[in-house]
This record gives sequence, C-alpha cells and structure tokens, in this order.
Amino acid sequence: MLTNTDLMELTAFRRELHRHPELSGEELQTADTIVDALKPLSPTRILTGLGGHGVAAIFDSGTDGPTVLFRAELDALPIEEHNDIEWSSQISGKSHVCGHDGHMTMLLALGRLVSRQPVAQGRVILMFQPAEEDGTGAKAVVADPLYKEIQADWAFAIHIEPGQPFGHVSTCAGLINCASLGLKIKLIGKTAHAADPEDGVSPTQAVAKLISALDRLKRGKKIDHDFRMVTITHVQIGEPSFGVTPGNGVLYATMRTGKDDAMDNLETAVRNLAIAVANESNLGVEFEVSDNFAVSINDADAYEIAATAMEAIGVTYGDEGVPMRASEDFGVFGWKAKAAMLCLGPGKGYAALHNPDYDFPDDLIPIGSAIFDRIARDLLGTA
Ligand SMILES: [Zn+2]
Ligand SMILES: [Zn+2]
Repeated sequence: MLTNTDLMELTAFRRELHRHPELSGEELQTADTIVDALKPLSPTRILTGLGGHGVAAIFDSGTDGPTVLFRAELDALPIEEHNDIEWSSQISGKSHVCGHDGHMTMLLALGRLVSRQPVAQGRVILMFQPAEEDGTGAKAVVADPLYKEIQADWAFAIHIEPGQPFGHVSTCAGLINCASLGLKIKLIGKTAHAADPEDGVSPTQAVAKLISALDRLKRGKKIDHDFRMVTITHVQIGEPSFGVTPGNGVLYATMRTGKDDAMDNLETAVRNLAIAVANESNLGVEFEVSDNFAVSINDADAYEIAATAMEAIGVTYGDEGVPMRASEDFGVFGWKAKAAMLCLGPGKGYAALHNPDYDFPDDLIPIGSAIFDRIARDLLGTA
C-alpha cells in the first residue's frame, strides 16, 4: 500500500514532471529525473540510453521466473498549455497533455511497492520509453542491444482515457489500438507568372483531385479488420503571393487501419493514386513516411491476467470505446511478449488528450499502481 507520504511525494513528483515537458527524442532531463527517483528504490539494475533516452529499472527476485514489464512514456507534446495551475508547463510551446507525466509517476509508485515488498520469483521491469508520440520510441528500445537484458515475457501499460468514469478501465482482448501512418505527398511542378499560368506546371487541380479521391478510400465506421481511414491533416499549394502561379504542392495524409497488412495495402493505394493524379498533370511526385505505428493487440492471456487483477482490487472494467482509432507505440512490446494495454478513466470534466487544457488527475496514481502491483504479484508472487 502507498502511504499518505508516498501520495504527497508522488503528486509533487508528477507536477514537477508536468512543469518540465520535453519533446519526443529530447527527453534527456526527464530521463535523469527518473533515474534520480529510481536510485533510492535500489533496483537490481538501472539501464539508461535505451533506444534514445529510455530508462529501465530491473527488480530481480533472484529466483527463476517470468519477466514482467510495465511501460510508461517520457515524452510531452509541442502544444502550448492553457491551464491556469501552479504546476503548468514552464517551457513555452511544450506540455504534458497526454498524461505521460502521470504514467511515469504510476510506474514509480509501483517501484516503491516492489522495492518494499519484493516479488517471489522472476523480474519486474519498469520501462520508461522515449518518443511514444511519433511512433519511433518503442521500436528503438526493442532494437537496442541493451534490451537483450530485458526480454519481457509479459508487458502491461496504462494510458489515461478521458471520457471514461473515474477509476474505470476500458480494455478488451484482441485489437485495442489501430495502426497509423503519416504520408507526406509532394507534387513538383513549375512556377509561372500569375498572368501566364500556361507557362508553368501548377499542382492546384491535382491537389484538389487528391483531396476528394483520398476521402473515397475510407471504408467502414466500426473498427474491424476491413476498417480504413484517411485524414488529410495539412495542405499547401505554392506560396502566399498574388503574382505567382504555384509550382509545388504538399499534402499530409494520416492513414489508420485495424491490421498491419491492411495498412500496407492502404499505403500502396494512396501512393498509386498520387502517382496517377500527378502523371495526369505532368507533375513529379515524392513521398515521405512519418509517425509509423503498428496495431496494438491485447493478448488473450495478458487480458485475463489484467482482468483478474482488477476484479481482485475492485477496479471496474469494460470494453467501452475500444478498440480505438488512436494509435499506441506500446504495441511493439507485444511483438515478443504477452501484452495488454488498459485505458484508465479520469471521470467527468477532463479535457481530451492533446487538448491545451488537459492535465492528469493525481488521484489516479494509486489506482494505476495498484493494478500494476496486483498483476505483478499474481504472476510472480510476493517474497
Ligand atoms: Zn499522445
Ligand atoms: Zn499518450
């Protein structure tokens, strides 16, 4: 059990993280703060620099048994915070508005519990991954040679999920988060005088065609294996000028599917469409891929373990709002481990994730850490 002193210290810690957000891939100071907080818990080992600025604390029971990993994320977002709170972001244009400050704190709370009352067998890993928001962090962590020391058998994560009742968990077995992929489509033509557009090659009509053609690639509302979605997130044609016919155009499209191979097919369809439209208008075309997330699948056994743990400690759960369209880097940890993601509700009145007025409710810290602690003890026992 966490004491009142723990809760006060952990709340202060969460707010300190909130004051100092760092973007994906730049989490140097956050990683140092985490290491400093882990040291007094005397884990068997602390690994740093995992896949960038990732940190992992290994609590080894000394007895053979499974390795159970719990994941939090280090990174914040390039969003100006609009909260009028004492602990609001001190860094202009950056904020923890995805709850990662709270996720890190729940993991540290678990660290306190495991440090005081070790597990009987196997190992508990507290994994603080970098760069979740751009989809590069988890892949970099598992590809890091240091990850060989971890090789989790089980992996669990909790993400805050506005819209759900306070302390209620949404989750399910099977697909929980969609795959997503960002594709930058650049159309290359030639500028001309605005009085003589026929002397140039303008991308304007091609961009207009692509906007409506991409929309027609969408399929289904229900998130099943046929579901596919294309959202245009940015369009630019030429430069802001009245004297020039544009010479190039850029279009950003974010694709989502419920399966990884469906994403391959959708990406091919989008590329072929852009090439065909560009050819019709004598335009060149270039592509750039970004924000590439695989699907997140909750393993049936891992889901059962989590469900049993939640029942044991009186946490209600259901499948409201899942699977969800949003993507999660955590899916990567499920490639070689039995993994489950749990979405924890903050109750009424909380802003949506990535809104400028979002803040993590500190009262969720003991609930999240209790779920993790129970999962760890159900799998590994208590010494
Ligand atoms: Zn986010
Ligand atoms: Zn997040």
